[in-house]
Amino acid sequence: MPYARSIGWVALFLLGGGGVLLAWSLVLRRQVAARTQTLNQTLLKLQEAHRATEEMSQHLAAILAAIPDMLFELDADGRYLGVFANPSMLLVAPRDSLIGRRVDEVLPLDAARSVHEAIAIALRDGADYGREVCFEINGQLHWFELSTARKAAVADLPHVLMLSRDVTARRESEQALLKAREEAIVHERDKRIRALFDAAPVGLAYVKGNVIESLNQQFVAIFGYQADDIPTLDDWWRRAYPDPAYRQTVVATWEGLIKKALAGDGEVESREYRVRTKSGRDLDMLIGGKVLEDGMIATLTDISQLKSVQAALNEAKEAAEAANMAKSTFLANMSHEIRTPMNAILGYAHLLRRGELTAEQGDRLTKIGTAGEHLLAVIKDILDISKIEAGKMVLEETDFALSAILDHVQSLIANSARAKGLTVSIDYGNVPSILRGDPTRLRQGLLNFANNAVKFTERGTVTIRARLLEESESGLLIRFEVSDTGIGISAQQRAGLFQAFQQVDASTTRKYGGTGLGLAITQRLARMMGGDAGVESQPGLGSTFWFTARLRRGLLAESAETRDQSSPESMIRLHYAGTRILLVEDDSINQEVALALLEDTGLKVDVADNGWQAVAKATETDYALILMDMQMPEMGGIEATQAIRQLPARQWTPIVAMTANAFDEDRERCIAAGMSDFIPKPVDPEVLYQTLARWLSNSSH
Ligand code: ADP
Repeated sequence: MPYARSIGWVALFLLGGGGVLLAWSLVLRRQVAARTQTLNQTLLKLQEAHRATEEMSQHLAAILAAIPDMLFELDADGRYLGVFANPSMLLVAPRDSLIGRRVDEVLPLDAARSVHEAIAIALRDGADYGREVCFEINGQLHWFELSTARKAAVADLPHVLMLSRDVTARRESEQALLKAREEAIVHERDKRIRALFDAAPVGLAYVKGNVIESLNQQFVAIFGYQADDIPTLDDWWRRAYPDPAYRQTVVATWEGLIKKALAGDGEVESREYRVRTKSGRDLDMLIGGKVLEDGMIATLTDISQLKSVQAALNEAKEAAEAANMAKSTFLANMSHEIRTPMNAILGYAHLLRRGELTAEQGDRLTKIGTAGEHLLAVIKDILDISKIEAGKMVLEETDFALSAILDHVQSLIANSARAKGLTVSIDYGNVPSILRGDPTRLRQGLLNFANNAVKFTERGTVTIRARLLEESESGLLIRFEVSDTGIGISAQQRAGLFQAFQQVDASTTRKYGGTGLGLAITQRLARMMGGDAGVESQPGLGSTFWFTARLRRGLLAESAETRDQSSPESMIRLHYAGTRILLVEDDSINQEVALALLEDTGLKVDVADNGWQAVAKATETDYALILMDMQMPEMGGIEATQAIRQLPARQWTPIVAMTANAFDEDRERCIAAGMSDFIPKPVDPEVLYQTLARWLSNSSH
């Protein structure tokens, strides 16, 4: 039974198995059905998604078609992977030809470079916005604004999306706006320039080629010509310069100047022209200008008034000069006319004193002498001040000893000081003993002070002082002063003291005499010498008058003026008695005076009355010296000297002018004519003897 059982078991087993199988198959079928359903659902979902995607794409395409933007997908090399845009927007190339190409194959170099840059920045930073590229398409400039963003990597390859918006229209309107604004500015500027043009105080004309483009208001005001009157330069030439010959020279000059301006910096040199106005008046105009890039601006200044003022001034100046000349001539003549009789007065006084005299006669002669000297000093002062004021005073420049100034002044006031019982002392200070400058003028200034000091001091001391104030490369500044213990001057009286003809008060003149010129002359001389003059004073105690001068150190070893010359007169008597000299003098009184002075020394004197006689006598006789007057009838001293110099062996004969023409110019004229020296009249016997002694010892006789 095991078999049966087995079979039974098998059957059972089979049965059971079949049942199980059946059961499984049922389960499986159910499962499959469930899966299928899921699959179907998934499929459905996929279809939905697909539809949605497509819708999205279409939507996107519709959007992109609707907007003027283009969307590109680009790889890192700038290769077009996708192009989403309205085909009409793709101006550079159609979509299909873009895909697969690189931007640099499609766009101009600059634009391509900018796109590459945008890609690089987007890949690095995630995005790049607001970049603008501009290039020409079909001959028209287009602007594109680019917005670039990194896209999630596809298969590890980085991509970007680039939105490109055509902003040409915006740009163009912006530029139009800008241009309009610029034009408005230019217009405004033009308006302002025009306003300036019109406001200029001179006439202005803007000229282009031959066309006169515009005239400013001043131009119209000056000439009366409106723009219509003179549309071209030719019209201007014709109307402004109606005289053809003058017009020709003006045009030639003008064109020459324009050429010069073009070759140089464009500035047309200003010249004076005489221009006819519309109303027919002639004006003096100063016309110049400037050449510009596109024409030129002519500037026209009316100088008619200036010219007439100038002419009036010139006339006034000429009149003043003529008056001045007349004054100078008058002064010279007056000086000559006074000196000539003075020569006689002083000469006779001198000669008379040599004879036997009573005390009273001697006293009277001294008074004549003093009065004469005073009169002479007054004339000298008047001439000096007028000379300084005419700017004709010329300073000398020679070496001299300081002592020659101070000692000399002291000796000149010694007598009058002694007469009043005053002590005179000298203080050389720290001043170098040899100086260079004008000793005559220094002495004159100091003597003015010293004479006043004696005049205005009743008792006490007069001190003559020199001080070195500074020494620099430019020289020395030296102060000269004279202090006294006299009446002094109050502060109020000091004001204006150095002005010409100024005296402390009128009563001074009555009591002390004087012209009130001394201080004025001294101050002006000091200023000419680079210094000044002034006074310190206490009424009742005394005054210190000072002046300063710029001088130099001198080189003189021993000044001729410091040499002791005991008595030239006796020297002549000793060495030259019997020596023949010639006196040329037309005035009989002066002849007599000079003769007496000369013969006193033992000289043998021939006399000539005029130049002719002088030449004749000098031809015959080889004189040791000739004394020559200047102003004589027939032939004057200058011509006579020139003639004598032409004679054989008379080249070196000393010829000494002795004349009442006492100006420096006269001295110069004498020297220029060949004279050797100069003695002013009235003749100071001391000077005469000194000069004679000097020239006789030089002479070959
Ligand atoms: P004047 O020829 O009249 O002396 P100045 O120009 O030399 O002319 O002097 C002008 C005036 O200054 C004198 O008249 C006098 O009033 C005054 N003055 C000059 N020097 C002195 C002095 N040392 N003391 C007082 N007064 C003086």
